[in-house]
Amino acid sequence: MNVVNHAQLTSECELPITDHAGLRSALADANVPTLLMVYTTYSQDRAYLDSFAPYLTGLYTAEMPSTVPEEMAQDLRDRLFALLTDPVPPKERPIDPELLRHMMSVSVGEEVAAGIVPVLYDQMGFERVVPRKDLPGRKAPPADFRVLVIGGGMTGIAAGIKLAEAGYDYTIIEKNASLAGTWYENTYPGVGVDTPSHFYSYSFELNPDWSHYHPKGKEIYDYLTGVANKYGVPPHVQFETMVTSATWDEGKARWIVGLRGKDGKERFEEANAVILAHGVLNRWTMPQIPGLDTFKGPKMHTAGWDNSVDLKGKRVAVIGTGASAAQLAPAIADEVAELTIFQRSKHWVLNNPDINVGVNDAIRFALKNIPHYKEWFRFRVYWFTGDGLYGNVCADDGWEDMENSISAQNKAARDYAIYYIQNKLADRPDLVEKIVPDYPIFGKRIVLDADGGWLDTLVKPNVTLETGAIDHVEENAIVMADGTRYEVDVIALATGFELAPALGPLKVYGRGGADLAKAWGKDDARSYLGVMAPQYPNFFLTLGPNSAPNHAAGVNMVLEAQIHYIIEALDMLVAADAHAIEPSMAAYEEWNRRVEEQMKNMVWSHPKAKSYYLNSKGRNYVSCPFRLADYWSWTRQPDRTALQLT
Ligand code: NAP
Repeated sequence: MNVVNHAQLTSECELPITDHAGLRSALADANVPTLLMVYTTYSQDRAYLDSFAPYLTGLYTAEMPSTVPEEMAQDLRDRLFALLTDPVPPKERPIDPELLRHMMSVSVGEEVAAGIVPVLYDQMGFERVVPRKDLPGRKAPPADFRVLVIGGGMTGIAAGIKLAEAGYDYTIIEKNASLAGTWYENTYPGVGVDTPSHFYSYSFELNPDWSHYHPKGKEIYDYLTGVANKYGVPPHVQFETMVTSATWDEGKARWIVGLRGKDGKERFEEANAVILAHGVLNRWTMPQIPGLDTFKGPKMHTAGWDNSVDLKGKRVAVIGTGASAAQLAPAIADEVAELTIFQRSKHWVLNNPDINVGVNDAIRFALKNIPHYKEWFRFRVYWFTGDGLYGNVCADDGWEDMENSISAQNKAARDYAIYYIQNKLADRPDLVEKIVPDYPIFGKRIVLDADGGWLDTLVKPNVTLETGAIDHVEENAIVMADGTRYEVDVIALATGFELAPALGPLKVYGRGGADLAKAWGKDDARSYLGVMAPQYPNFFLTLGPNSAPNHAAGVNMVLEAQIHYIIEALDMLVAADAHAIEPSMAAYEEWNRRVEEQMKNMVWSHPKAKSYYLNSKGRNYVSCPFRLADYWSWTRQPDRTALQLT
């Protein structure tokens, strides 16, 4: 177990702040509720905190106008200025957990449960953990204990960092020539993140320097590779190498892992444990559209974009209207001659006015220099893009309007989306008709419109939204079922990823030759906690079945929670002098029963909702039906009674 000081928040910022002009402008621009949290961290003045409560609402960004009366905000800024520039810096005192919980509630304008307090410490960057290998009394892993990580994306990098901190020898096998996975591969115009990076980033490496609240792909790539370099990950990586198979050798209690490098030859390495971090949204192929192969012009999938293709003045087709298309189309609409967007089914669209907003210098000063500002800001972002959205996807007891929505929060989000779309497209009722879905909002991944850019694109004179069925593709055209022909020069396929089969082409053979690909079938993957499966000792999944946070942002939080759990399990193995750890069949069945029970209440199970979360039998094998905070707490400490050690 990590040792943390839960009573004391920590910050590496130095006091006093001597750049008074910089501090003044930072205080003037900074997010008022976040400043209030910083102040209260020092003052612990509950009455002062409560005086702000009536004015604090659910808005989260630094850019949004404050709802706090100006004289109160100014008083807070003055107090903070005095505190942060005092030549005798204020001492931080341990904070009572109940005061912390109350601070969180005031900060976000709604009641936050006590269970979130430990999440705040760990995930918001407040925690300064003692590296595992320095923990007194902990049994160090044997020197020859080796962990092999498949994939060097956001998860694999974090796994490497945390394994090293725990004293485990590790190797990452990465198919590309670089780390960072998705953020290396996806280079299509407009690629970025539609969840805010002040949360979508590692809790142990908060970045005060994001240029935008939703940075573009290259900046995330630089962040991830920068973190990997800082922690010395690259020397542990075998690049341009694919894992072909993993076979458990009972006698050796090791995995024999098949690898294929650039030379195409297969070779084998051994490892005591394997962590599968190959990414859920990673494998793609060209869709099965008749005649697509005969198309003479360039055709590119968003995840395999060729930036040497000049789109200027071309007639371009974008197939698909999901998150990738909604980034791509606005980025290219103005340079192409004609843009035809092919929608197969409807996606709910919610506007996010912040997506293109830059983080100004004053706010960056605050994030960098004001103690606890970046941590408290991260908490707000987590809340408003993470668990605060859970009510959208989980049905209210006795909710009556089940045809269109599943809960009060879900209905409010639906109304808000309809209001946005109708207002934005007031002159285009034909488009409103074409894009507003009939299933409840959040029934599948919503499209976050970057400050209206997606809908603005749809109304451009050179843009057409085609909602009919594609019949086939010819050498220079896409032909619809009704015979309409679109002559195009380039086809962009924003058609998404193959989640099934969950292992991809990888073969995994566990105890007695148990075949994981066979057990999971075409699209029926199951696991224990999304992390392990019986009969596959020391084989760990990340973002495995039913652990994707589909209600919100938070993939970063889930992957960190899973890595924490995996290392806890490995430590349990080492401490017991055992060779193999796996979940019991009973624990596996109980977890899946709980998932299925809860899934019945979730929006993804609504009869009108169809998404890539569902397998061919209609079972959701992707989404986690629980709150991020609950999942986080269940993965803190492995339940010894659920695990078998041999
Ligand atoms: P997606 O959400 O799976 O959307 C694919 C789109 O292509 C859908 O509109 C789909 O229609 C359509 N489509 C698929 N096959 C087709 C075919 N054969 N003919 C016509 N249309 C077809 O894929 P994505 O947009 O690449 O996004 C995938 C996931 O990546 C997202 O859900 C999100 O989690 C992640 N992502 C995140 C960001 C971010 O900013 N954070 C950005 C991009 C992607 P149907 O709806 O009918 O299936």
